[in-house]
Amino acid sequence: MKTISLLNFARDEWFGASGGLAEVHSAVTGELVATTGSDGLDFKAMLDHARTVGGPALRAMTFHERAWMLKDLANAIMARKEELYELNYATGATRNDGWIDIEGGAGTLFSFSSKGRRELPNQRLLIDGQMEPLSKGGTFVGQHVWTSLQGVAVHINAFNFPVWGMLEKLGPTLLAGVPAIVKPASSTGYLAEHCVRIMIEANILPAGALQLIMGSTGDLLDHLTLQDVVSFTGSAQTAMKLQSHPVMTRESVRFIAERDSLNASILGPDAAPGTPEFDLFIKEVVREMTVKAGQKCTAIRRAMAPAEHMDAVEQAMKERLSKVRIGDPREEGVNMGALASQAQLKAVRDSVAELSKSARIVSGDPNISPVAGNGAFMSPILLRSDDPWGSPEIHDVEAFGPVSTIMPYRDLADAVALANRGMGSLALSLFTFDPKVAEEFVLGAGAYHGRMMIVDRTSAKESTGHGSPLPVLVHGGPGRAGGGEEMGGIRGVTHYMQRTALQGSPALLSSIVKQWLPGAAKPESEIHPFRKRISELEVGYTLRTASRVVTLEDIEHFAHFTGDNFYAHMDEEAAKANPIFDGRVAHGYLILSFAAGLFVDPAPGPVIANTGLENLRFQTPLYPGDSMRVELTVKSKSVRDEEKGEVRWAVYVFNQKDEVVATYDLLTMNRP
Ligand code: NAP
Repeated sequence: MKTISLLNFARDEWFGASGGLAEVHSAVTGELVATTGSDGLDFKAMLDHARTVGGPALRAMTFHERAWMLKDLANAIMARKEELYELNYATGATRNDGWIDIEGGAGTLFSFSSKGRRELPNQRLLIDGQMEPLSKGGTFVGQHVWTSLQGVAVHINAFNFPVWGMLEKLGPTLLAGVPAIVKPASSTGYLAEHCVRIMIEANILPAGALQLIMGSTGDLLDHLTLQDVVSFTGSAQTAMKLQSHPVMTRESVRFIAERDSLNASILGPDAAPGTPEFDLFIKEVVREMTVKAGQKCTAIRRAMAPAEHMDAVEQAMKERLSKVRIGDPREEGVNMGALASQAQLKAVRDSVAELSKSARIVSGDPNISPVAGNGAFMSPILLRSDDPWGSPEIHDVEAFGPVSTIMPYRDLADAVALANRGMGSLALSLFTFDPKVAEEFVLGAGAYHGRMMIVDRTSAKESTGHGSPLPVLVHGGPGRAGGGEEMGGIRGVTHYMQRTALQGSPALLSSIVKQWLPGAAKPESEIHPFRKRISELEVGYTLRTASRVVTLEDIEHFAHFTGDNFYAHMDEEAAKANPIFDGRVAHGYLILSFAAGLFVDPAPGPVIANTGLENLRFQTPLYPGDSMRVELTVKSKSVRDEEKGEVRWAVYVFNQKDEVVATYDLLTMNRP
């Protein structure tokens, strides 16, 4: 393999370091793969460029435009994924490991793209929660909103997933409208650099949206401000060093940390040998030890089993581990490659030596390389401690490699306490078929773990696995795990935005948030709104219908027709005995149906379909002889593509006394 001179990407140009180059070696052969460095970069100018060029360009785009951009980026990566797989082998990773990194990374961008288009408005501002009435007369209200930060997201990433680790942060950052400066870990940075190259060459991003540092971050942190975010993944030591930088505290720079974690997996008390859950537990622990050679922040480091099953667990794990084939990750049939570097191999050996103070190795030898040559290979190491409360190392030392320790627990309370002894983790798994065990575990351990996967025979086949962070779920954990939170769908986007509580009149706030708010004007429609395309519909535009009387015959007809003969509609005495009704009342569903009958304009036109109702509330009963009318208001609208979009209508049903009978949001699919 030809040695690559890695370049930085600063101020929209590729830049070679002026000196101080570090060498990066193949994890498999030890040969020189790349040289890397960032000497000569003007870090302050990079920040300025992101703030003055990248930020404004991204903030001028709507969430949907940014979401389409993410999809284009993901497609560009997928189109050239084989180039990344080729480089991936040198990190010691198998094709399977690479799939998690490369296609998992692109998949995360696809997921954020799709969430952005489905769950965010085609606007630049995001509403948070419902409007809060603040005054008796309704002229002064409150509404929380999110707006994009006006600074830079500095992403400092770990070595283990150079592509996914970058893209899982870039997705929410770019969707939020914030430019990023990425600093990959040096030992596997060549993969991240190539992925950035693919994205830049695809010419999808606006200028200044993405920059890359291939070495030290120099004085970058000195120039951060309140509008910037540092999103760090790596060791606790580095996190603490960065977090205690004086500028971070002085400027209240947001700091998201994903650190190490002593993740636990627990064999439930009901999951004896011979149960499906026992076999699933063994399989999962061994899988977590060997995927990516155990270099996963979420990997299972502590495996706990009822004391009486410890021997069976040890035996079953040893048997499974004996089938693991370690070797050159390019070779067919190899299911575990090398650690990322010689330095990593040494660090893991040192950690195993620490762990050995309180646990004995029952499988594998950390000091004998299972593969000849200069690669950073290590066999999976299974340790056993029979005195977990007298063995502090097993709960404190993270061996970031194919290493796990099995330990017994006495009862469920003891298992919960041991799991929590890790002092905060990213992921926990529990193998049980007993819902009571699961409930007790969640209540006892939830506060200590960012994600909990409870597996049984019904979910195992489709389970995404203990170690897989997912774009739609939060990734992060309390305490030792860093106290950060990433992804989690749109939650992850708001980490790069500011929440502000707006106060003012409903009309004013409506015009800012581009959504009709209760109390804002409802201009009367001249043309029926069902005759208008989305582009022609004004927010607030309102149809006021004629009224109709609801008779007892209507109620009885509806009851017989639908089979809904509930006593409140059909039995005068029983209805009267009910604490809220004075007699028989119209069905809620009848009111909804009559409401549609009042506001629908039947001829084919821009409305394609009714896609649902939300926030439905029946507020005042409608009695036989009462009349009802409807106000249908355009609440918000969103174009999805050239064919369709969504209109959200605020529907109010009133009786003859102008009391609100029902309110709801009606959703329709419309032509743009
Ligand atoms: P690390 O040594 O802390 O490095 C992490 C990143 O910080 C690298 O990009 C590194 O760059 C950079 N860095 C180091 N010192 C710095 C400084 N003074 N200023 C600015 N940047 C600095 O961690 P690692 O060995 O790469 O990663 C392994 C650890 O990460 C494990 O403990 C693992 O549990 C944790 N991890 C956590 C997660 C998670 O999501 N929670 C995910 C993956 C890994 P250089 O490489 O150039 O030194």
